[in-house]
Amino acid sequence: MDEHRGKLIVVSGPSGAGKSTVISKVMERRSDLCFSVSATTRKPREGEVDGVNYFFVTEAEFDRMIGDDELLEHAEYNRDNYGTPRAYVEEKRRAGMHVLLDIEVQGARQVRERVPEAIKIFIIPPSLQVLEQRLRGRGTEDEEQIQRRLARARGEYRESDFYDYVVINDDLETAATELNAIITAELCRYAERKSYLIPEESPFLNF
Ligand code: ADP
Ligand code: 5GP
Repeated sequence: MDEHRGKLIVVSGPSGAGKSTVISKVMERRSDLCFSVSATTRKPREGEVDGVNYFFVTEAEFDRMIGDDELLEHAEYNRDNYGTPRAYVEEKRRAGMHVLLDIEVQGARQVRERVPEAIKIFIIPPSLQVLEQRLRGRGTEDEEQIQRRLARARGEYRESDFYDYVVINDDLETAATELNAIITAELCRYAERKSYLIPEESPFLNF
């Protein structure tokens, strides 16, 4: 394993759980993280910016990306396609940055197959009632979309047993602290810091 390679951090959870909100908070607190902007065929919501929230692409362009093996993973979600551009993830990890993906469960399973060392975190709201309130409060989906997203949430909960951690996003500050703590703990693993403990390898030890 290349010790200097950045971590791959997968964050999933039902739509409306607050993934984007919690991730933004954590990104403000850490400079060693970067966010992987996904490609999607979904139409932009008001305020979403191409290249910042997503790369908004046509079906044809999405199919081309799959054909040219440009996506690390991809999945369909509520009749739209979403995928993670591979090049950005690899370039940043090679440069030692940790890369965070906000992706749904099928995509997370594909990442687990391809990158077994990825850290997988599931973010949930305190209850499904709160999830529904947040989806409605966000005001970005119509009633049919909200119902589809709630139905999908139940399925995602049932399929979530391969994640390593669960963050409960009740209070935003607490949830951001939890996500941040998970990343910090992963970076403090013995295997990560072994070189500090072997005198011959460590620039810091002089027994
Ligand atoms: P996701 O990315 O999981 O779909 P968002 O980050 O868009 O979810 O959050 C959904 C809605 O819930 C947004 O309107 C957001 O402002 C709100 N929200 C997120 N976290 C909290 C929280 N801890 N308490 C109250 N509202 C929240
Ligand atoms: P939204 O339309 O609310 O932005 O996202 C819908 C779902 O798609 C969310 O669960 C989000 O995590 C997921 N998603 C966003 N980007 C990707 C991606 O690149 N790949 C996969 N598999 N899911 C994604």
